[in-house]
Amino acid sequence: AKEHGRNSFKVFHSGMNIQSYRSFQLQNDLRKALERNEFKLVYQPRIHIGSSKITSAEALIRWDHPNWGMILPSEFIPLAEESNLIVEIGKWVLAEACRQNKAWQEAGLEPIRIAVNFSSQQFLQKDLIETISSILTDTGTAPGMIEIEITESVIFKNELAMTQTLKKLRNMGIYLSMDDFGMGYSSLKYLRQFPVHSLKIDKSFIQDLSSRSPESLSLVSAIVSLAHSLKLSVVAEGVETEEQLNQLRDLDCEEFQGYYFSPPVSANEFEDFLFKSQDK
Ligand code: C2E
Ligand code: CA
Ligand code: CA
Ligand code: CA
Repeated sequence: AKEHGRNSFKVFHSGMNIQSYRSFQLQNDLRKALERNEFKLVYQPRIHIGSSKITSAEALIRWDHPNWGMILPSEFIPLAEESNLIVEIGKWVLAEACRQNKAWQEAGLEPIRIAVNFSSQQFLQKDLIETISSILTDTGTAPGMIEIEITESVIFKNELAMTQTLKKLRNMGIYLSMDDFGMGYSSLKYLRQFPVHSLKIDKSFIQDLSSRSPESLSLVSAIVSLAHSLKLSVVAEGVETEEQLNQLRDLDCEEFQGYYFSPPVSANEFEDFLFKSQDK
């Protein structure tokens, strides 16, 4: 019994060590990752349900770590937010998305919009508007080619200031969408107050559509109607099956993204998608 106890202690403990060693190392290396050029963006196509054409892409960050390999944002974005490094990383994400978009246009493709994700700390920067403006100028990007995705929890952290900032961004011509809609505070009352162009229905609602339960269908249908009555367009995320897509088409949802069409892919693979979609 004693031996067994010691063994299970050892297993448990070494497991914990690897985990804490990993997060210790990631936290340290995060500082150097930007200058070492270890981040990259992958792009997930967003499809217009009516025409089946690619309308835009969501840029999602990846970290190619020298020891640990590819690391997903769910693991390092929280660390970057804790240390406020997210502000610098966020600038890199926007600039890289703009540079890539420019490169696609120079390759002869028609311009598309690229969506980037923003954390709340980025909105707390006093020079946010100036920072975004200079990135757009430096990369020769029209504001309408950029979309900023904001989650409800970011918006409701500081309603008044956020409303002002979002209005400024919208007046600049930047496209705004509310991400993960339905998951956060879901304050329908505030939806009118925030000047966003579109809603992204969270993937958990879309995945429930597969269960063919009338309740999940009603819920998604209600979100689409609400958005349309406020003149917002609707993007469904996490679409994995043809059945989900057909249901969304019946509900007059405008756009979708998800594994059914494609997971996020490298810039090169996305370029191939664009050439096909634009018949070039
Ligand atoms: P999100 O903004 O809600 O992004 C959607 C996530 O769903 C992505 O995960 C995407 O790969 C995944 N996804 C796409 N289609 C499907 C599908 O059909 N089924 C399922 N199950 N999943 C699908 P990813 O790339 O791991 O990103 C996770 C989260 O990390 C993002 O959630 C976003 O909140 C955050 N994130 C990613 N890139 C950035 C960034 O550049 N800056 C900031 N601040 N956050 C980022
Ligand atoms: Ca997003
Ligand atoms: Ca989302
Ligand atoms: Ca999310």
